[in-house]
Amino acid sequence: MDITAPRGTNDILPDEVGLWQHVEELVRNAAERAGYREIRTPIFEHTELFERGVGEATDIVEKEMYTFTDRGDRSITLRPEGTAPVVRALVERGLASMSQPAKVYYLGPMFRYERPQAGRYRQFHQFGLEVIGAPSPAADAEVIAVPLEVFRSLGIQDVIVNINSIGCPACRPAYRKLLQETYRPVLGKLCPSCVSRYDRNPLRLLDCKSEACRRALPEPPMILDILCPECRSHFDEVRRLLDGLNVEYAINPRLVRGLDYYTRTTFEYNVGGIGSQDAIGGGGRYDGLVEEVGGPPTPAVGVACGLERCVLAMRAMTGGEEYDAPIDIYFVALGEAAREKAFELAFDMRSCGISADFDMLDRGMKAQMRYAGKAGSRFVAIIGDNELAVESVMLKRMATGDQELVRQSEVAERILEARGGAAK
Ligand SMILES: [Zn+2]
Ligand SMILES: [Zn+2]
Repeated sequence: MDITAPRGTNDILPDEVGLWQHVEELVRNAAERAGYREIRTPIFEHTELFERGVGEATDIVEKEMYTFTDRGDRSITLRPEGTAPVVRALVERGLASMSQPAKVYYLGPMFRYERPQAGRYRQFHQFGLEVIGAPSPAADAEVIAVPLEVFRSLGIQDVIVNINSIGCPACRPAYRKLLQETYRPVLGKLCPSCVSRYDRNPLRLLDCKSEACRRALPEPPMILDILCPECRSHFDEVRRLLDGLNVEYAINPRLVRGLDYYTRTTFEYNVGGIGSQDAIGGGGRYDGLVEEVGGPPTPAVGVACGLERCVLAMRAMTGGEEYDAPIDIYFVALGEAAREKAFELAFDMRSCGISADFDMLDRGMKAQMRYAGKAGSRFVAIIGDNELAVESVMLKRMATGDQELVRQSEVAERILEARGGAAK
């Protein structure tokens, strides 16, 4: 029997993981520079959290969740997104008594049963920022702008920021009605899910992916034209703040996002050169969510970005540099006694903070040297009978080929010196 990885999953092998760690580090740096602290929530939650917090009339809840009954007969779902769990955690751990706004970020795997294609997986990774407890347009503008710093530092250029406002409970009902009036004449030509959403959530018709619906649906009325004065001025202020940061954006009236809890600002980042899955992230304001999952009424705004797509975009634009972490020193040992010494010395090095490795396969000198070269070793220490006799190693600097006899007790010092010199 051949056992292979489940469809839509991806192995990140050691050769690629350096790149991933690099991306993750840039995310952490950008988030922490902006005052966000990391939060880690479980991979699985009660299904009800996502039904309430993502919304039952959404693609995610209707057809994409990994849901199962556990041995205790509970309905459990692998998290399809990060916001609902973050809000659940903060509410449960006493959001009301925390200093606000709570600014948190997360980084980790999410799970959706979708048709896999380039940049789209069933287990994928996201980073996200959430600002909970801030009604201010500054919070919206900040969560839009911080990921742009990440994209920039990754070398991802020409990111298009699309923004829109979808109003609030005061002004959205009028828009829903207008939308229903616009779409009523074409109802017969729409896909079954649009028909079923027509009453429950007509905004969702705007982002239906079916070709037939895209052709049949007339241009939607502009929601921006019927925003209430509060929503209008909120939107204008977000735009002013983005202008002040020289963020280029486009207003996209079709941008409603698939999630029920969004209010006011919605946004998405698109980037060229990575195929049809060109959205690398997005988010919006979700003033209704905290209450939906049992907390006090609390305004909030957040963003989530796909790491696979960031990596794809980065590779497309920079060619994908290597981010291997080379080791400091590799011990090449000849003979039984030398092998034992190499083993001990490798551990001595590690306890001094030096990365060190040694041969485990009793190979000949040539094969050991080749392995050290592939591992990107900065130094090689050769130990044979002659070196053992004088408690030394032949230390070779790989970049220059220079070598000299160094006492075993002084190797660590020599490596640390060389590293300090390189840092200067
Ligand atoms: Zn409004
Ligand atoms: Zn449709």
